[in-house]
Amino acid sequence: MSLSTSIQTPNVTYEQPLGLFINNEFVKGVEGKTFETVNPTTEKPIVAVHEATEKDVDVAVSAAREAFEGVWRTVTPSNRGRMLTKLADLFERDMEILASIEALDNGKAITMAKLDVGNAAGCLRYYGGWADKIVGQTIDTNTETFSYTRHEPIGVCGQIIPWNFPILMWSWKIGPAIAAGNTVVLKTAEQTPLSGLYAAKLIQEAGFPPGVINIISGLGRTAGAAISSHMDIDKVAFTGSTLVGRMILQAAAKSNLKKVTLELGGKSPNIVFNDADIDNAITWSNFGIFYNHGQCCCAGSRLLVQEGIYDKFVARFKERAAQNKLGNPFEQETFQGPQVSQLQFERIMEYIEHGKKEGATVALGGDRHGKEGYFIKPTIFTDVKPDMKIAQEEIFGPVIVVQKFKDEAEAIKIGNDSTYGLAAGVHTKDLNTAIRVSNALRAGTVWVNNYNLINYQAPFGGFKESGIGRELGSYALENYTQIKTVHHRLSDAPF
Ligand code: NAD
Repeated sequence: MSLSTSIQTPNVTYEQPLGLFINNEFVKGVEGKTFETVNPTTEKPIVAVHEATEKDVDVAVSAAREAFEGVWRTVTPSNRGRMLTKLADLFERDMEILASIEALDNGKAITMAKLDVGNAAGCLRYYGGWADKIVGQTIDTNTETFSYTRHEPIGVCGQIIPWNFPILMWSWKIGPAIAAGNTVVLKTAEQTPLSGLYAAKLIQEAGFPPGVINIISGLGRTAGAAISSHMDIDKVAFTGSTLVGRMILQAAAKSNLKKVTLELGGKSPNIVFNDADIDNAITWSNFGIFYNHGQCCCAGSRLLVQEGIYDKFVARFKERAAQNKLGNPFEQETFQGPQVSQLQFERIMEYIEHGKKEGATVALGGDRHGKEGYFIKPTIFTDVKPDMKIAQEEIFGPVIVVQKFKDEAEAIKIGNDSTYGLAAGVHTKDLNTAIRVSNALRAGTVWVNNYNLINYQAPFGGFKESGIGRELGSYALENYTQIKTVHHRLSDAPF
């Protein structure tokens, strides 16, 4: 099978790399395996890509190790920053191509895909700016010692990303790792390998030395597992399911105790108080769950509405959600495309059936949309009890459960009744309520009078079983640096 092919989308025709990107070259896998990626809108294969197995992970790690010990150390922090900035420029230049790949391979609405590419470019540029500002401290200990710290890169970083934001997660992982001077082996999700490979081509063009950033396509149980248990990978960063997150942590413990950061699932509460601006709360609650087809780890999937406005709010929320335009992701007006894969489609439909059997009421949707493609109608469940499976487990689709609460204390209690703690929303005009409730919620992010707005300058990550560590902002750099303390004795006098 060749190493690239021409792909035509409704928007652009472009050359798609298909190989594994190792040492700045696209190569075939050692075992010659390939796998297909499917267009979720048509349910038809798009193309096959070369598949990395454990042996390819070894090759990629060797390349990353050699670069880390060699050429990458000779590149100044400022020049690392320039390369990241150049990469950001190339993302913007090729925005139409990258966004079209996301729409094709993931099913993402093109307008949202463009936001992702813009944010990915912004994230890379932001970390380009950090590259020469990572500094240690000088520490006063005593007159005979000069003590200082260095924030050094960790080494070779394995990065495993999911399919819900393929190019955005690529940038969240690569940006801070490279700014801090590490080298990388990144595995894309098997459902969406194409944008990551196209971006690999831009790595070459941005002038990164060979081996610094390696991008491989492969399956989780083979290539992903090989990364998490590899003896020569110093750190692993993972975004995906809590189930796999646990496996990564175990593999790290059983191998070389590599550092681990995890960004996992959620079942985030979105709380609307009686005094909220209803129009605004409706807009953000709709965006909070149905954006990206509900495939967001931080989706506001539990809507908690105070009893004084419950009936009115639910009626208006239904009206609003029913207006979301489902359809071909390449059409400008489309808000919701298909779910990423047949497996995800089936998982979500099972949850919907389960909700019906548990006795919750389907207030909207509850069904597939159309006959072709993995489309699911925006689905709203009411009469939901807190212990129902649909109220406790992450569905990762366009499905929201609505619950009623009496007062602030009850909202906080239901809000925190989850093993997860990724995000939450609070809608109220009362500043004191907003601050009290934000403080009481056990979540890594709280949105007040908005939802799902993420800025790469500010940290993102989970409390409880939603993860370990923080991505984005200056905080992410802590995941990618280790601190060395140097005690320099200034005196020749005997101790
Ligand atoms: P997943 O966790 O299996 O996949 C995410 C990534 O992990 C992919 O790159 C995959 O190849 C890799 N992976 C899978 N098994 C692995 C293993 N044993 N070792 C190392 N890497 C491995 O997620 P999924 O099956 O695609 O989706 C299942 C559920 O996960 C979803 O329904 C959703 O609830 C959740 N999810 C969460 C996020 C998030 O952003 N937090 C993203 C995707 C999926």
